[in-house]
Amino acid sequence: MESSLVKDNPLLLPLNKEKTIYDGFITVQERDFRLRILLPPDRQVKQARLHCCWQLKHLLHGYEHIVKQRQQQSPDLVTFILELKTVLEVGLKSRHECRSIPPPQYYAQLISEMETLGWGKLLFIDTEFRTLRLKAEDSSRRQHILNIKLKSKHPVEAPECSADLPVPLAITWTPQSTLEQLHSQFLLLLESLTEFWDVLDEIDSKTWILEPEKPSRSDTMRRIAIGNNTSIKVEVDPRHPKMLPECCLLGAEHVVTPLRNKLNANMHLWNPDSSVLHNLRDVLEIEFPSPATHEKSSFSVECGICYSYRLEDAIPDQVCNDPRCGQPFHQACLYEWLRALPSSRQSFNIVFGECPYCSKPITVKMAAQKS
Ligand SMILES: [Zn+2]
Ligand SMILES: [Zn+2]
Repeated sequence: MESSLVKDNPLLLPLNKEKTIYDGFITVQERDFRLRILLPPDRQVKQARLHCCWQLKHLLHGYEHIVKQRQQQSPDLVTFILELKTVLEVGLKSRHECRSIPPPQYYAQLISEMETLGWGKLLFIDTEFRTLRLKAEDSSRRQHILNIKLKSKHPVEAPECSADLPVPLAITWTPQSTLEQLHSQFLLLLESLTEFWDVLDEIDSKTWILEPEKPSRSDTMRRIAIGNNTSIKVEVDPRHPKMLPECCLLGAEHVVTPLRNKLNANMHLWNPDSSVLHNLRDVLEIEFPSPATHEKSSFSVECGICYSYRLEDAIPDQVCNDPRCGQPFHQACLYEWLRALPSSRQSFNIVFGECPYCSKPITVKMAAQKS
């Protein structure tokens, strides 16, 4: 022990034969700090008394309780001095980066706020105690996560918050605010969205969703399979989820036109007290294929040009209008294919050509950049 104490701290030497008094310097980040340690006759570190130079005192200010704790836990002087140097390094660092490393009271504040909120709501906290993830359950028992990034001046400065929501996460924060209040605000916001998620959960569980591939809680759009190469894209308003959503029918003209006519003719029947799925069924006069009645593979027909289903997130949404063909293609694939043929003709951003499968006329718009 003695040898490593001298090796680690060549400037800190025992002043007596009993080795109960040490005096000299410890070096941290190329800086020397004067230190005197008085040990009891049994040389127990726990009972040791420290005399620090003013620079050392200044650096350890606010960390005294940590030093005390380390002193109680260290089995010997070597360990304790090593621990002391680690604390000093943190102290030096925080003086350099006082804006990014929080003061010691930050942690005490955080712990007391978490105690009020309940530790059971904490899903994750990073090693620097700056990024937190809190869980929240809405009244329909859906699980949500609130991501919080605390500022070093917490709670004076408002934390940055984010969550998987279809609306902006607006948080009111004052210097007196706490994590518990933040969590309550989040719960209120979740409650205001339960109807929206109820509408979408029903669609997701009772129909085949072609897009998005894995809907998140913030996704307001659903592309629902109607039949072979036919689908409807609905955009649900998170604030008015039961109103008639924006609808767009996709597929071959001979299938889509009658559906579009029904939608226009029956629109007035839309009942805002009923669910969106229910209303869509009534207005379009169809039954949606569901996981209970159909396999998803019957709707995910691959592109006739690249033979895949997903192409950089796009699905084959261009369909040959010939009723006997009905082959689907990716917009980008069909556009490239037709443009390469000398028989095709382009007018503005539309290319006119022939279906690669049945040679009937087919048109495609220039593929837009995916936003
Ligand atoms: Zn393709
Ligand atoms: Zn065709």
